[in-house]
Order: sequence, then structure tokens, then C-alpha cells
Amino acid sequence: MISWSGTARRLALGFGALLLLFALAAGIALAGLGRIHEGMARMRDAEEGMRLALELSSAVRDQYAHQAHTIIIGDRSHLGFYAAAEARVLELTDRVRDHATGDDERAWVEDIRSASGELDAIFRQRIVPAVVRGDRQTVRLEHGQAQVVVTRIQERAAQLVAAFEAAIARARAGADAAERRILAWLVGLLLGAPLLAAAVSLSIGRSIAGPLAILRAGAARLAEGDLSVRIDEAGPDEFRALARRFNEMAAAIASHQARLVESEKLAGIGRLAAGVAHEINNPLGVILGYVRLLRRKAEGGLYADLAIVEEEGLRAKEIVDGLLELARPLPPERERVALRELCEEVLARLGEARVLEEVALRVSGAATADGHAGKLRQVVTNLVRNAAEAAGRGGRVELALAEEGGRATVEVRDDGPGVAAAARERLFEPFFTTRDRGTGLGLAISRAIARAHGGDVELAAGGASGGGACFRLTLPRSAGEGTR
Ligand code: ADP
Repeated sequence: MISWSGTARRLALGFGALLLLFALAAGIALAGLGRIHEGMARMRDAEEGMRLALELSSAVRDQYAHQAHTIIIGDRSHLGFYAAAEARVLELTDRVRDHATGDDERAWVEDIRSASGELDAIFRQRIVPAVVRGDRQTVRLEHGQAQVVVTRIQERAAQLVAAFEAAIARARAGADAAERRILAWLVGLLLGAPLLAAAVSLSIGRSIAGPLAILRAGAARLAEGDLSVRIDEAGPDEFRALARRFNEMAAAIASHQARLVESEKLAGIGRLAAGVAHEINNPLGVILGYVRLLRRKAEGGLYADLAIVEEEGLRAKEIVDGLLELARPLPPERERVALRELCEEVLARLGEARVLEEVALRVSGAATADGHAGKLRQVVTNLVRNAAEAAGRGGRVELALAEEGGRATVEVRDDGPGVAAAARERLFEPFFTTRDRGTGLGLAISRAIARAHGGDVELAAGGASGGGACFRLTLPRSAGEGTR
């Protein structure tokens, strides 16, 4: 089935209009040619009539001449020639009648016919007997009568010739007018068709060239590395669809690029961390060991100072451990993890650690996934800890578990202040934090663990009770299924 896209419709309309113009011009030219043809036929007919009328006029003169011959010879010997001349006049009269179209012409032909009969009657009934008798006076008298009739016939024949001439002139004028009309139409078509064709190609060209130029400019910016480029999804259907695909493609490239950069950054940090961690971890352990030892012996101000040294040392260790976490690949074994139990376990531990004090908790739904219980616990702990901190005392934290298709999801929502627009882009960057004592590694580590499982952690829309933030952990339900 043909789909009539905008451009196809325009092309069909444009070419249809051109075809219609040509068909119209061809129709008018054909009709004009028909009229010219008709005029020519009428002209030929009238010409033939005129020729026959002239011939008739001369045949009547012939007939009259044969009468004179009989009078001169003075016997009936010439009557055979006379009869042939008379027959010729009658035949020509009949043929002229066939070409007489008007009432006048037909009346004149009939008059010629009856005059010819009169001429014959004068000759056969009155002149011939008088000739045979030798009655010269009657012959002269009747011959005079015959001449009057011949003159009448010739006058009628002349009228017919004039009428045929007028018909020829009319037919020629009609054919000339039709010819001029065809010429005018052809000139109009010659001027109009290129103008219409130009208008059609301009309109189609603009509707194709415009969107193409936009696409080309977009592609050029994309090629220059501007992944934020998006083009206007306007114009004819197929260009709108193309523009939509282009924008989707640009967005996909941008997201893949961001992932690539992020994972390269993490890999770089991981390599660095693995090296530094080895070097720092041992001296840090020794320092912390000595600080604890010294604190046992110390008193007063020194005790408090050593407590600060220990606290900062522990923070340094936390950062080193976090960096190692980013670099460390997942252990190879996986197991079936019941995520509902895992979440409740996390909440219980955090509750014991007094992290969730005066925070209203709610867990709903259930889901299972293949993974590393310890690592997944760490992810949920990070998310719940962040949510509880954001919600604050008297706040609310909700965990919603679900399974959909091949994926399991755990959404951690809170009714805190939510994530500022400026922070959204950088949330998962290592060391991005807005908290005084934060390391900025929690979300980065959580995402690294989720992605190592074939899943992800993302900031989703909506928080608890419509406000706050919502972080969604997505995991493939079985190890064979990736979420992306
Ligand atoms: P840290 O907790 O050490 O700051 P994270 O990587 O866990 O590191 O979090 C990074 C930043 O993300 C936080 O500093 C905070 O600004 C923001 N964030 C994380 N969770 C939430 C939340 N539930 N609500 C609002 N902001 C949050």
C-alpha cells in the first residue's frame, strides 16, 4: 500500500497540475483542429458548389447554342447534341442542389430547374416545329423568349456563385479564428507551463531542500563533536520522522559517550587507586594503630586531639576503601538474591546504627535478581543512607520493589529537598558531594556495582509523597539478561 507522505502528496499535486495543464491545452488544440477541419470541409463543399454553378452557367449557354445551331441548320439533325446538352444541364442542376445549404440557394436551384424545363419546352414544342415548318417569324419570336429564360438561369447561377463565395469566406474566417485561438493557447501554454513547472519545483524543492539543509547542518555539528545538537522536528512527515530519528541518534551518542567517559574515568581512577591504596593503606593502618595506642595513654587536651587525628585517619581510610571499591571487579560467584529480604536487612542494620532515627519507613513489593548479595546490600545501604540524610528527622523514606519483564527494580524515595538541577548531571561523578563530610563516592560506587551486574542506578522522577528524590536500582532478573 502506498503511504501518501507530505512530499509524495506535493509531488503528485505538482505533476498532476502540470499534466492537467497539458491535457487542457491538448484538448483545446484538438477541438480547434476539429473546427479547422470542419471549416476546410465546408470550404471544399462550397468551392465544389461554386465550380458546379459556373459549369451549369456555361452548360446552359451550350444548350442555348445548340438551339441556335438547329435554327441555323433548319432541320432536326442537331437535336441529338441538344439532348446531350440538356441532360448535362439537368445533371449539373442536381449536383449543385447537393451543395446548396441555405433556403435562398435551394430556391435558386429550383428556379434554375424550372427555367431549364421552360427553355426545353420553348425549344421542343415551339421552336423545332416552327423550324421544320420554315416559320421564321415564330422562330425569331420564340428564340427571343428562350434568351430571356437563359438570362434568368445565368442570373440565378451568378447568385449561387456569389452565395458559395460568401460561404467560402465565412468558412475561411472560422478556420482562421480557430487557428488564432490555438496559437494563443499554445503561446499561453509555452509561457504558463515553464512558470507552473518553476513554481512546482520551487515549492517541492523548498519543502525538501529546507529540511535537508537543517539535517545537513545538524549532521555537520554532530560531526564536529557537538553532541547537544538537536534539530527542529518540523516539515513534511518523512523529514519530521528523520529529524526525530536524528535527535534520538544524537541523544544516544551523547549518552553512550557520557557512559564511555565515565567508565574510562572510573577505570583510570581505579588503576590509580589500586596503586595508591597499596601504598597508603599500610601506613594508614600503622598510623591508626598508633593513634589508638597513644589515646589509651593520653589525657585531657591531648586525648581530644588524638581523637580528631583518629577520626580524620578513618575518613582517609574510608576514601581509600571507596576508591578500591570502584576499581575492584565483582567476585565471580552469583546467587539468587531475594531483594525484599535484603532491603529489610539493610533497614534493620541502619536502624541499629541509628542512621534512621525518626524517619518513617515503608517497604512495598518484592523482587529477585541474580547477583552478589554483599555488593547489592552495599548499593541499597548507600541509597537508603542518602535518602535518610535528605529526608532528615521527621522525614519519610520508601522502598518500592517490582519486577517487570526481565528486570527487577528497587526504588528508594524520600521526601527531602530533592536534587538541585545543577547537581543532576554530576550526581554519579566520583567525589561529587554537597555534604560537608561526604566523600562523593557513594553513588559512583553504587552505579559501578549495578553496572557490573548488567543493571544501573539512576535518578528517577518523583520522590516520596510527590516531593524529594527517587533513585532507582535496576537489575537483570537472571544473570543472562542485561537491562540495556
Ligand atoms: P556523599 O553522600 O558522600 O555526598 P554520594 O555519591 O552518595 O556521596 O552522593 C553525592 C551527592 O548526591 C550528595 O552529596 C547529594 O548532594 C546528592 N544526593 C544523593 N542522594 C540524595 C538524595 N536522596 N536527595 C538529595 N540529594 C542527594
